[in-house]
Order: sequence, then structure tokens, then C-alpha cells
Amino acid sequence: MPPIEEYIDMIKQLWDSHWITNMGTLHNQLEKELETFLGENYVQLTVNGHMALELAIQSMNFAAGSEVITTPFTFVSTTYAIIRNRLEPVFCDIKEDLTIDESKIEDLITEKTVAIVPVHVYGNPCNVEGIEEIAKRHNLKVIYDAAHAFGECHHGKGISAYGDLSIFSFHATKVYNTIEGGAVCCRNEEQYKKIYNLKNFGIQSEELVTDIGSNAKMNEFSAAMGLCNIKHFENERVKRKQVVEKYKRLLCDLEQIAFGINEDIEKSNYAYFPVIFETEELRNKVYENLAKGNIRARKYFYPLTSDVAYFGDKYSKMDLKRARYYSDRILVLPLYADLPNVDVERIVLIVKETLQKY
Ligand SMILES: *Cc1c(COP(=O)(O)O)cnc(C)c1O
Repeated sequence: MPPIEEYIDMIKQLWDSHWITNMGTLHNQLEKELETFLGENYVQLTVNGHMALELAIQSMNFAAGSEVITTPFTFVSTTYAIIRNRLEPVFCDIKEDLTIDESKIEDLITEKTVAIVPVHVYGNPCNVEGIEEIAKRHNLKVIYDAAHAFGECHHGKGISAYGDLSIFSFHATKVYNTIEGGAVCCRNEEQYKKIYNLKNFGIQSEELVTDIGSNAKMNEFSAAMGLCNIKHFENERVKRKQVVEKYKRLLCDLEQIAFGINEDIEKSNYAYFPVIFETEELRNKVYENLAKGNIRARKYFYPLTSDVAYFGDKYSKMDLKRARYYSDRILVLPLYADLPNVDVERIVLIVKETLQKY
């Protein structure tokens, strides 16, 4: 959160205007600031990241029942956004960097396939060039779930420059937040207007309604939070980097652990610090021992979205070997800009003590 005075200063004007939602001044200002920050021409703000993704997919007008190739190693939102658009998710396995394995995508393509929805999971960039090539060859759309990747650069461009559309989440738990919020990064004015229309009930003008839209507008209090937080983002990035480096220094000599972060990210946001244990048992023991010390690490993403209870065993026979392997062994350690060194040391000590016992 920003210093409270900064936030109060920002929202004071709302008591003059009484304009607190429906594309107000702060909403429009944040849109412009994020376009500059991200190097994008068309950023459309939304009420949250999930609706950004749901509307991004809806804007493509795919026929109901079409298939979308995606990763199961993600937050359920990615899968739900596909299903809530009456499309069929087709789950593809992942690589060691935890992103979708582009070499397995073509085997999953059928006549019904219309799109690929990959995720830059933990901010690890997907093989965007490889995915683009496959999409071109088979005439598929690519919509990136970049919820974890805000502020990152990849191969000389902002991460949201890739795909037909990219979305971000600005949820309170993300590296940059507007309390709740999200954005769709569009390639052209037509897409930008389409998403605008969908986030506002499909209302073009007072008497002209042209789409079955939703209500996915960002309100002014969220936009105010975003305007305050964007000023602190680079400073946060530096502080997070220091925490990540401290973790790495203290954990790098442990053989039972690998790091889940891609080391060659051009410009990381240091949003997450995932570690992969040698066995599921070790992961679970560390998780439990941290919990006993009142430290909340997350088994993130476990279970896979293909394996949540709702689906029963619908997808249990799919070849998702690597995804299941990592899902069983991954643990995301606590990470925030002001995490004190002594707390990092305490967390690492619990990890080390647990590993020594097993
Ligand atoms: C957080 C998240 C979302 C959804 O964003 P919300 O802002 O929480 O709606 C979607 N995909 C991924 C990978 C996420 O982590």
C-alpha cells in the first residue's frame, strides 16, 4: 500500500466530483499512465484480472464448443475464463521453466481448435516466438495470461506486446495492485473499443446496445490506488530483488531444492519465489513446519486446474506428467518488498532443518 497521505490526496477530488465509477478522471488517467509505463498504445482497465481474461477471450467471438489449448499449471481463473466462454480447455503439459511446452501444442490441435491461452507463470516468459509460429501456421489466436508478469520485459519488448491480446491482474496479492483490478493490452483501436464495450454491458451510447457485455469497469478508488502504487513500483522491484537474492544465497547449496524462476528473464518483477523440492513428501513437510512457525508458504499451483474436484477424473488420463510432477513438489515462499532479512533467515532455517531430518 502507498503512504496513506498519498492515497487520501488522490481520492479527495472524488468528493468534489462525486464521480466514483464509470470511467472517471482517475480511471482515464491510470489508463494513460499504464500505457506509458508498459509501452502499450491501448490499455483497457477492468475490475479484475479474471474479467480481463474472460472479456479478452469473448472479444474473439469463437464459436461455442471450440477448443482452446492451455496450461493446467496456473490459477483456476485461466481455465474458468475459457469454460465460462463456452469453450473447451485442452490441457498441454509444461516445461522445466513451468510454462506451456510449445513442442506439444501441435499434437493437440484439432479442427475445433481456435486459440492458445498460455500463462507467463511466476513471470517466467513463455516461448513467445515459438507459440507465435505455431499460431500462424494453424491460424489460431493467442491470448496471454500475463497476470504474474506486470513490469517485465522480454526480448526487447514489454511482456504484454506478445499475442493477439495480453491481460494483467492488479489484485491485492499481485506485485502491482489497484486493490482489485486488471487490464487488457490491445493491439489496435478496434480491439480497445470492443473490450470497452464488453466491460460496460455492451452499451455503445445511451440508446444503442450492441453486445452481450458484462460489468467489468474499474472504479475510481481502485484507479486512485493504482496511480499511487505505480509511483513506487520501481522501488518495490529493487527491494524485492534484494529479498530474492538473499533467499538464493541462503538456499543455493541445498541439493534437494531447485529454483522455479527462469534465470534469464530480461527484466524480472520478482513477484514470486517458487522452489521445487526433490519429493512431494519433502515439500509437504516444509509446508507444515513453516505453518507451525506461523509462516504461510503456498502450494501454488497445486492441484493443477485440470485436477480440481469439480472436474472429477475428466482430465486424469491426459498426459500432463511434468505439470503433475512440479505441482506435487512446488512451494512458493513468502516474498514482499519489506520482508526483513531476519525473517528470510528464519524461513530458510526451517527449510534447512526439515531437509536435514529427511
Ligand atoms: C490472479 C490471477 C488471475 C486472476 O486475476 P484476479 O485479478 O484475481 O481476478 C488470473 N490468472 C492468473 C495466473 C492469476 O494468478
